[in-house]
Amino acid sequence: MLLDLLFPQRCVVCSLPGSALCSGCARSLPRLAPPVCARCGAPVAWPVTRCRECTGRRIAFGSARAAVAYDAGVRLLVSAWKERGLRDLASVAGDVVAEVVSRPGIQTITFVPPDGDRSLRRGHHPPARLARELGRRWELPVRPLLQRARPIRAQRGLARDERRRNVRGAFRARPVRGGVLIVDDVYTTGSTVSAAATALRAAGASSVEVVTFARAVRG
Ligand SMILES: [Zn+2]
Ligand SMILES: [Zn+2]
Repeated sequence: MLLDLLFPQRCVVCSLPGSALCSGCARSLPRLAPPVCARCGAPVAWPVTRCRECTGRRIAFGSARAAVAYDAGVRLLVSAWKERGLRDLASVAGDVVAEVVSRPGIQTITFVPPDGDRSLRRGHHPPARLARELGRRWELPVRPLLQRARPIRAQRGLARDERRRNVRGAFRARPVRGGVLIVDDVYTTGSTVSAAATALRAAGASSVEVVTFARAVRG
């Protein structure tokens, strides 16, 4: 539509014209406040080192942190970011992550690589964009250390154990030293970032931390 070309910017959550995310919606993003589980970042009633969600699970990363809960509004935001590659959203996400999550003690930032070449062909990949935004704010280098070793079936609709099997051995990593941060857009069960962390540890990373923009929160 011509109007869309003339006025392409509308808030992806409430449709208010002006920007990809209006200031009201940006302010009311459901930030994840402490206490959260020290390991997996799930919101908890009081500080714990392991929570109900991650107890007894083999997790290859040191800790995971996220900026906002993956609610209906955030879902709209993330899908607009993925499907339409709205540049402004990466910068908003970078601001919110830097506001909520403290700078991790690592040396290199990397990101979960795209599944197949679809998003690369379209020229946008939210985890890579967010990694660059965080690299700038935290003054850390961003390197594409991870590659997909094989195609992965979509994780959506799979149970936790199936997800873990689905991504086992799914990543290869370039040789690296020191601590590494993996950036992704959404943390669901942590299976994907854990498989990526396993590859990074095998490639020489001394520690692996995880930061995502959003996180699924169980009720
Ligand atoms: Zn809005
Ligand atoms: Zn936990």
